[in-house]
Amino acid sequence: MSSVKRILVTGGAGFLGSYLCERLVQEGHDVICLDNFFTSQKSNVAHLLEEPNFELVRHDITLPVYLEVDQIYNLACPAAPGHYQYNPIKTLKTSVVGAINTLGMAKRCRAKVLQASTSEIYGEPEVHPQPESYRGAVNTIGPRACYDEGKRAAETLFMDYHRMNGVNIRIVRIFNTYGPRMHPFDGRVISNFIRQALHGEEITVFGDGSQTRSFCYRDDLIEGIIRMMNGPDDFIGPVNLGNPGEFSIKELAGMVLELTDSKSTIRYEPLPADDPTQRQPDITLARKHLDWEPTVPLREGLAKTIEWFKSIEMSHYRPPTPNY
Ligand code: NAD
Ligand code: UDP
Repeated sequence: MSSVKRILVTGGAGFLGSYLCERLVQEGHDVICLDNFFTSQKSNVAHLLEEPNFELVRHDITLPVYLEVDQIYNLACPAAPGHYQYNPIKTLKTSVVGAINTLGMAKRCRAKVLQASTSEIYGEPEVHPQPESYRGAVNTIGPRACYDEGKRAAETLFMDYHRMNGVNIRIVRIFNTYGPRMHPFDGRVISNFIRQALHGEEITVFGDGSQTRSFCYRDDLIEGIIRMMNGPDDFIGPVNLGNPGEFSIKELAGMVLELTDSKSTIRYEPLPADDPTQRQPDITLARKHLDWEPTVPLREGLAKTIEWFKSIEMSHYRPPTPNY
């Protein structure tokens, strides 16, 4: 069998998806990027449009789609809290109906399919760091539930299509990832802090800034995703992918201020509802089965991300459009 594969990336124009498409195109695969541009823009993949092995399809994954492919990476879903809470019903539909459409295609084509799940499925974790065996503590009726529960239901659908229909699946649980091509107005902490620091605006720390996150650089994460897709069939996941280096949000603010040499001051704002107080991946399984671990420390990844933020024209980006 040819090693060149026909690969679909849903959400392929997004922050992570566009870099994944880039990697797969470079490896010589035939890549189809499917996206409705709800939280992204064509400029993320414009440089790939001239490549003969890249194709862009504008489509909403909640609607059926028929393509012939060997592998599917299912990344279509708004990921930043501001984006996914913008239209929570649509977010839930995207995760659930999107998973059904993606899995249906995988079943029909006998394609292998990978689900981009999330550390959010652990909710407000009582176990620290979080191993895959931890079942999580999610508030089913809170403002983050549309995302958390959508991703949890998608994991269930993936496992059931696997058990019932023999679909060859993979599930990765992604922890906070950052890097070039993050949407500058997505409201995530790293994009906010860098944008604010570079423009001399106040740095908005929510709560007292003692809550923690573990930040993974984009390139490390994508390497892990590709390894998982191509790894042995007896390890389907879920597997945590993230950088175990854990930082408080206040520490992060200090680091961004230092690296941007900014005079911005910190403004404290109320902590949003259900904002997890701590988060750190246990990556024992990824180390063992994928021989994977992150290589880019936060400081180095932030410096690269800051350079990218300096290079972009902010007026080319806008908040998400209504999408019902
Ligand atoms: P992103 O918002 O940049 O990318 C998501 C992409 O999906 C966008 O291009 C968006 O336009 C597209 N999309 C949204 N709804 C769609 C729909 N109905 N039909 C078709 N396309 C649609 O976010 P990202 O950070 O690149 O996240 C990619 C995936 O990884 C998401 O599934 C997200 O849940 C998951 N993830 C990301 C992180 C992270 O820290 N970046 C953490 C955990 C999980
Ligand atoms: N956060 C913050 N200021 C901001 C944006 C976010 O202090 O301008 C905090 C937020 O409350 C959370 C953490 O940073 O505790 C990470 O937020 P993000 O939205 O990036 O991701 P998530 O909460 O989904 O992990």
